[in-house]
Order: sequence, then C-alpha cells, then structure tokens
Amino acid sequence: MSHQVAVHPLVSPWGRFGLYSYFIDSPEPAIVDTGITSSPSEGMAPALEQLGRRIEDVRWILLTHGHIDHLGGAMALWELTGRKAEVVLHRADAHLLRSRQAHVDLYAAVRQQYLDNPDAIAHQTASAQQAISGELEPTMLVEGGETISLGGDVSVSVHSIPGHTAGSVAYVLENDRDVFVGDAVQIHGAANGFPGYEDPTAYRASLEYVRDRLAPNRLFLGHPYRGSDGEPYGIELDAAAARRALDESLEIEQRIHDAANRALSAGLVDTASPYSPFEAVATDVGYTGDPTLEPSPFFTTLHGYRARFEAGR
Ligand SMILES: [Zn+2]
Repeated sequence: MSHQVAVHPLVSPWGRFGLYSYFIDSPEPAIVDTGITSSPSEGMAPALEQLGRRIEDVRWILLTHGHIDHLGGAMALWELTGRKAEVVLHRADAHLLRSRQAHVDLYAAVRQQYLDNPDAIAHQTASAQQAISGELEPTMLVEGGETISLGGDVSVSVHSIPGHTAGSVAYVLENDRDVFVGDAVQIHGAANGFPGYEDPTAYRASLEYVRDRLAPNRLFLGHPYRGSDGEPYGIELDAAAARRALDESLEIEQRIHDAANRALSAGLVDTASPYSPFEAVATDVGYTGDPTLEPSPFFTTLHGYRARFEAGR
C-alpha cells in the first residue's frame, strides 16, 4: 500500500549504538528525536540534503522521551532551524531537557547503588556535558491527548505511554497510523540484551495500549531492539511485525516480573556476582549480558520491580 506522508529514518552513530531519528516529510517538516550533540549537523543535515530537504525548514522537533540519546541534539537542531521549530516533550521528562545535571541525579538515585564505580559520577557528568547540546525549555509541553497539525491535512496525535520513562510518548501520524514510540517498546533490549524500563506496571499497560488502542500500521523504534533469537527486529516494523514485537515485549516483561517477584519474596542477597543483588533473577531468566554497561537497563528495570515490591508491603 502507498503511504500518504513519507517518513525517512536518519541514523547517527554513538559508541555501540545507532541513534535513530525520523524525518516526517510534511508541509511543516518534523523530526522525531534528535540523537546527541553531533547528530543534527553530522547525521541529519547531510541526510536531508540527499532527500532534497533543508534542515532549516524543520518546524517540529518531536521528542519521544528525555534520555540523552533522544534529546541530546535538541538544542543543536533547534539552532539549525533558526530557533523557529517547536520543541515538544512530555511534562514529566522536561527536567531532562532543562538540565544536564538531571541526568546525573537520575543515575545517582537509581543505578549508582548497584554499579559501585567510583568514577561514575564524573563520567556521567562529562557524558551529559558532551552529548547534550544545550539546556532548553521545551516550547510545547504535552501530557497526551493533544493533536498537532504538521500543515495541510497532516496531523500527529500525542499519547502518554509511560514506563521506559515517566514522560514517554507515542506520536501517531494519523494519516497512515504510523506510530513512533522511541524506546517504549523494548522487546529484549538493544545492545545490552535486556529491556530497560523504570516502572514495570506502567510499561506493561503502555505496551497493551500501543498494541490494542494504537494498533500501528507501521511502528518506528528508537533502536534496533532484539527478539528472543538475538536478531534485531529492525527499526521500521510493518503491522504484523509490530504485533509480534509488542506480544514478545509483554512476554519477556512477564518472565522478568515473575523472576523478580520470586527473588524479592525470598529476600535480596548481596553476592559476588555482577548481577548482585539480583543474581537469582539473571539466572532465572537466563540473562548473561554485561549488566554494568551503561545505561545498564538490567539495574534500572530490576530497581523498578524492587521499588514496586517494597511499596506494596
Ligand atoms: Zn530511552
């Protein structure tokens, strides 16, 4: 079938990761997610030139959530548009665009206690300094429920899908039911081989919402997340692949949920394992990846189950 509005992936490299942004070729052009500081000039501008489009004409910067590799390039891209583009972000993640320090604080509040790395705060601070192009107030704060016109008859609806972060959103290109979710659909995770989400209960509800309510015709992901066979799904999924990715994401969440609750009910134990105090969970779900590789989704996710479990007692 033909699509009414062209969508082009724009990839920028960052260490072990490929950072995916999407150009929506609408009357008021939009870019979903921005990579890091270097991405707009080094990745996006040449790619748009090849499409016969100009980065200065971009009018919408649609951020799916507050992580560095999605909003780090926002200030740089905004500058390239002559500060004319609207910068859209969910209210609950806005502090992550306003402040580099917020990323360090998040690390200190959650992951630091598990990773035991004396240089970590200095490293996180340097990384936020380098990868985030500037601190910026979003020009449009959203909460879900909004509809944004991209000119002509092209419109995007905004949907709150918390879990990966509190302020994660889906942008739905209504003309084609193209759904952009950033990192809110993790399957087995990307480079680390483990799905990352801060709030497991919200994550599950959001996956069901995307599958059942948004029912994507095409699903665009923030990274090439892997399936159970270790193979990446790719980043642009048709309706059938989107359904499989969502079902598989729900299945693995259920397995981690069950393993986490068994370990938490038995009582967490500090061990010499790099997965400590969640060694039993890693064994139970057969996770053999390196849990210390930042952004260490293993500890972010298990901390979320732990916080839920402890709050429920
Ligand atoms: Zn993320």
